[in-house]
Amino acid sequence: MVKPLFQRLALIGLGLIGSSIAHAVQRKQLAGHITGYAPSAETRARAKTLGFCDSLYDTPQAAVEGADLVILCAPVGALGDITRTLAPALASGAIISDVGSVKASVIRDMAPFIPEGVHFVPAHPVAGTEESGPDAGFAELFDGRWCILTPTPTSDVEAVQHLKTFWIECGAMVEVMEPDHHDLVLAITSHVPHLIAYNIVGTAARLGVVTNSEVTKYAAGGFRDFTRIASSDPVMWRDIFLNNRTAVLDMLDRFQNDMDHLKQAIERSDGKALQDLFTSTRNIRQRIIEAGQESPEPDFARKSTHTKTTTGDS
Ligand code: NAP
Repeated sequence: MVKPLFQRLALIGLGLIGSSIAHAVQRKQLAGHITGYAPSAETRARAKTLGFCDSLYDTPQAAVEGADLVILCAPVGALGDITRTLAPALASGAIISDVGSVKASVIRDMAPFIPEGVHFVPAHPVAGTEESGPDAGFAELFDGRWCILTPTPTSDVEAVQHLKTFWIECGAMVEVMEPDHHDLVLAITSHVPHLIAYNIVGTAARLGVVTNSEVTKYAAGGFRDFTRIASSDPVMWRDIFLNNRTAVLDMLDRFQNDMDHLKQAIERSDGKALQDLFTSTRNIRQRIIEAGQESPEPDFARKSTHTKTTTGDS
């Protein structure tokens, strides 16, 4: 039997990402033992029934004891407090990582509590769905998706390499990036698009049209896709916007500026300006498909919510 990459993996947070990591680890036996912790007894009970952890604990300290890899899979706003709480229980030589969708603030919040002799390697698997909770996870979530590592200046080189191997074995492709650059890139590729989806669905709701059965019945692909994105977990996304403020506000300024130009093009019936933009954006989608990050298949028949549609989100 192949030696596992880690003897004992501790997952703190057992929702979509935590449970997907557990399934991916079980798929290839990447860890000798998986421990899990989530604050609610309900989530722990569900994790036990689903069987993706070998043991479950009702405190984070107990879950991380003796672990050589600890991954925090909770909303980004909670990661500093979690690290402070479990730090005394971390084993010397262990790697502690996270999956947070924002990196600079997570490093700011976690780094001060990392004990001497413990290796901190922040990470963000850019893979997700709009679903959350322990039932949402599946082993293939990270297959062919990027996982971005944002080591700190003091991150141990061997620990970074070890975590890189872990994510590759989970199915991901790995890239190393500066935390600020990560936050800027994700602001435009994920965070602002989510904000736009929350806003457009909110606007429709305030107009009262969502309850109009004709609108629901004839919901065109565009609006339907926005509702899918806007059904993403409210706590997770609240924390992302509060913790990536600078980059999101910067990108929002640019977005508003471009939106004004589009509005003006419509006002002056400038068909050429509209068509030029729509042609260039179509080419961008083609490039994403060629990069293997989207399927060219038409989306009209997205079946039920049980269809595992990965979005590369957040
Ligand atoms: P999720 O499905 O809502 O699960 C969150 C988990 O965190 C739950 O098990 C929750 O426990 C636990 N939790 C909440 N507060 C906690 C605390 N103080 N201490 C320990 N655990 C706590 O969320 P998710 O989608 O897995 O997201 C988790 C992290 O992954 C976030 O940082 C997010 O930014 C990042 N991420 C998400 C996606 C995505 O598309 N969803 C993609 C990449 C990265 P209870 O169930 O007991 O409340």
